[in-house]
Amino acid sequence: MSERKLFGTNGIRGLVNVELTPEMAIKVGCAIGTFFGRKNLLVGHDARTSGSMLSKAVISGLTATGCHVFFAGMAPTPALQFAVKNHKMDGGVIITASHNPPEYNGIKVIWSDGIETSHEQEVEIENIYFDNKIVYAEWDKLGTVQDQPGINDEYVRAIKKHVNLQKIAEKHYHVVVDAANSVGGLTGPQLLRELGCKVTSINANIDGTFPGRMPEPRPENLTDLSATVKAIGADIGVAFDGDADRSIFVDQNGTIYMGDKTFAIVIKQFLAKNPGAKIVTPVSSSTLIKDTVEAYKGELIWTKVGSVTVSQKMKELDAKLGGEENGGIFYGPHQAVRDGAMTTALLLDTMAQTGLKLSALVAEQPQYFIEKGKIDCPDEKKEVLLQKLLEQVKGENISTIDGVKIWFSDGSAILIRPSGTEPVFRLYAEAKNQEKALKLVKDYSSRLEKTLKTL
Ligand code: MG
Repeated sequence: MSERKLFGTNGIRGLVNVELTPEMAIKVGCAIGTFFGRKNLLVGHDARTSGSMLSKAVISGLTATGCHVFFAGMAPTPALQFAVKNHKMDGGVIITASHNPPEYNGIKVIWSDGIETSHEQEVEIENIYFDNKIVYAEWDKLGTVQDQPGINDEYVRAIKKHVNLQKIAEKHYHVVVDAANSVGGLTGPQLLRELGCKVTSINANIDGTFPGRMPEPRPENLTDLSATVKAIGADIGVAFDGDADRSIFVDQNGTIYMGDKTFAIVIKQFLAKNPGAKIVTPVSSSTLIKDTVEAYKGELIWTKVGSVTVSQKMKELDAKLGGEENGGIFYGPHQAVRDGAMTTALLLDTMAQTGLKLSALVAEQPQYFIEKGKIDCPDEKKEVLLQKLLEQVKGENISTIDGVKIWFSDGSAILIRPSGTEPVFRLYAEAKNQEKALKLVKDYSSRLEKTLKTL
């Protein structure tokens, strides 16, 4: 964490008791409380070992500045976000480090609409924190703390309103849930059972050391899920990340799909019911998303990379569907934030309505191959290197929303962007075959390296 910065792309994150100490959490709580100004805030945490310690520290700061705290306990991030909106709270604070390893934790601030605070609001909180502008309440105006039980049940009930319960129940799907020993296990299996599915859970017990697997739902962490689905002949498997705002799916053969494939399935179904609708996605998303939105006559809106950017853009345009390739889908009719359980319900809804298995739904899609790369670049040269690159690709089919994305006439594309956290440029290429994708990464890496040498 740099001198004047607390927030990264997804709230405040750090190593517990090294970067993120209880003392710091109290002060952050005071800064957030001052920012809101004696309001009603919902607080909850994920399953990490430090969740209780850090939420109590944050609550101490919030009440010291006169905020009234409603404590929800352990819950998925989207359940807390839904409850903030549903109970007309003024905001909320979530203690989570999402997909990071168990020794990390984080603090996320939620606005009254359930969406994470904007970058500008985060800067306000940082200024209060670093300039010591905390406003403590007098002894007789301190905030109170009361429990807010039941938010996970409310959340499950709310999701069910958005899908065809009868159609899904008729299919008697057998679903394997892998909640990574975290909060996804508090809502995912319950939702699926209430949808009439047969549920088999793995890594279901809450354990903040994450003994079953790391909480990032990457293919290498999902081998048990994949094997289980296949071994017991289930219809589908779902893995949540550590705070269950993202979900990654496995088909009946054990094949793991990245989030862009499930997002494209949801887009197709959504556009069939909502012709011409706006679909919001970061510029890092696959060309599959572009193809799907174009094929089914939607309007595609690109944003910078980052889930908060997608939520804010959906709010600005009143768009009802957004998504990221990492398995985060934002379903506006429920809430314009990433939501792992809502995504699961939408996918089952599509399977039930079309009568197709997940593998068949994916087989309909155009296939792209992805290659990634990076080159070293000192932070102070990032901006000028990006400008040079822009000059070189002028006249091509590009977007400069975030770094540079170039689309080529054969359907391939490359995104080149400076990392926000490391002294590197990252390259993401995709093409109709692996060789072409690899060639794009190689060509543009050497081009960047050559240019960098001249600077
Ligand atoms: Mg997450």
